[in-house]
Amino acid sequence: MHDKTAIAAPALATPESGYGMLIDGEIVVGEAFIEVVNPATGEPFAFAPDATRAQLDRAVAAAARTFPAWSATPIDERRTVVHRIATRLREHAEAIGALLTAEQGKPLRDAIGEVRRAADHVEALVALDISGRLLRDDGRERVWILHRPLGVVGGITPWNVPIMLAMVKVAQALYTGNTLVLKPSPFTPLSTLAVGQVIADVVPPGVVNFVSGGNDLGAWIASHPDIAKISFTGSVATGRRVMESAAGTFKRLTLELGGNDPAIVLPDVDIAAAAEGIVRSTFANCGQVCMAIKRVYLHASIRDAMIAAMAERVRAIRIGPGDDPATTMGPIQNRMQFEKIAALLDQVRDTAGVQFVTGGTVYRGGGYFVEPTIVTGLTDDSPLVRDEQFGPVMPVLVYDDIEDAITRANATEFGLGASVWTRDIDAGLAIATRLEAGSVWVNRHLGNAKDVPFGGAKHSGYGREQGVAGMLSYTEMQAVSAPAA
Ligand code: NAD
Repeated sequence: MHDKTAIAAPALATPESGYGMLIDGEIVVGEAFIEVVNPATGEPFAFAPDATRAQLDRAVAAAARTFPAWSATPIDERRTVVHRIATRLREHAEAIGALLTAEQGKPLRDAIGEVRRAADHVEALVALDISGRLLRDDGRERVWILHRPLGVVGGITPWNVPIMLAMVKVAQALYTGNTLVLKPSPFTPLSTLAVGQVIADVVPPGVVNFVSGGNDLGAWIASHPDIAKISFTGSVATGRRVMESAAGTFKRLTLELGGNDPAIVLPDVDIAAAAEGIVRSTFANCGQVCMAIKRVYLHASIRDAMIAAMAERVRAIRIGPGDDPATTMGPIQNRMQFEKIAALLDQVRDTAGVQFVTGGTVYRGGGYFVEPTIVTGLTDDSPLVRDEQFGPVMPVLVYDDIEDAITRANATEFGLGASVWTRDIDAGLAIATRLEAGSVWVNRHLGNAKDVPFGGAKHSGYGREQGVAGMLSYTEMQAVSAPAA
């Protein structure tokens, strides 16, 4: 591990110096504040507003006030506004990326890349055709199926990919004619607030509002009487609470929750290509990706060769602070998550038969760094296999019979993603359709184009984001019938 002492933290922001919330077109400073910690140092470096209930109500009221005009705005104009947002993201990608690295920990090039990718994705989303259609015109009656916006959408995002996730919600809400109040994670509020500052003058006041604060603010949004839909991305446990809070007002819900994605590697696999792809899709963003690979099932005949090939690639990962150009993997984003990974590793550290092929080291004192770890010899009921570890740890398991591998891959409450790795694409596809997950890939894992609906099976989610199906979940279907003309 190289020197991680010298992250150049942005100056400690004062409440007056920026990072205000976007409410009704204005940048609003906080009345109370939350500390934002740099995960590469473990030290606070800035404050973000902790929105009061009155500030949230003001944001929701602004979004509700502007909804009739915005929903009546022609879709091409709404698309133009989203394009302007994308342009602003690109223009400010480096500054927003630097803030994202400081609060989230990811390497600067990945952070800037996230902002730029978010710009690409919002443009791709607003290219989708979401128009209604004439179902029937048979000389007796005409029936149309239309899609009406819902009203004010509440967006709630986690800390792992804050800009991408926020902007997907912005694009979907605005394109479908809704208005939005969005709350980023209290661990990573600043980059989203910075986006608010740079888009304030290209969006009509009140159409997009960004409010920051703690978990209480999330609960207020989830139960707010004037919010029609919640688009939530976060953990299974919080998703369950959001569902409960939303019941009172029958809010429409999209819940994008956790995952424990399996990768099944068949005996005929191209070892080098699979090792490359599986390592990339396990350790991306320090393993903090909802649909990262979190369990790898290797056929016994290729076990040693695959482990050696993957270990070679993992040893090339350089951990360190995100603003060091040599770093390829940053720290865990927050202390709670860091302690969770540390405990999971400690639990199996001295277990007979368990081996850390790479890593296993947790660095204490300062930032939240964990060596990228490949671990073998675990049983299926080990918490490292059973739970969503959400860190840079790859549990490797072995199978002899593919039926056994499929059964074990499906033996989980999660169902977000899965992958099959083989030279025989047809065999891979046959297995893929038997895996209980919202997204399944052959010879790849992670990353769907924006016209592909994304979401989880089982406890990994409820509904879809992206694609036409995801877009339409921001609308109410309306059947309009009339006599023939
Ligand atoms: P989290 O559930 O702790 O928090 C997510 C958001 O919910 C935060 O903004 C938080 O403040 C807010 N919140 C907390 N309590 C709330 C409540 N009672 N009501 C409403 N909102 C509340 O999740 P996290 O730790 O920030 O993120 C990591 C999790 O997110 C992982 O499980 C990961 O798999 C999941 N995730 C899923 C996807 C997906 O698309 N499926 C994408 C990214 C991350």
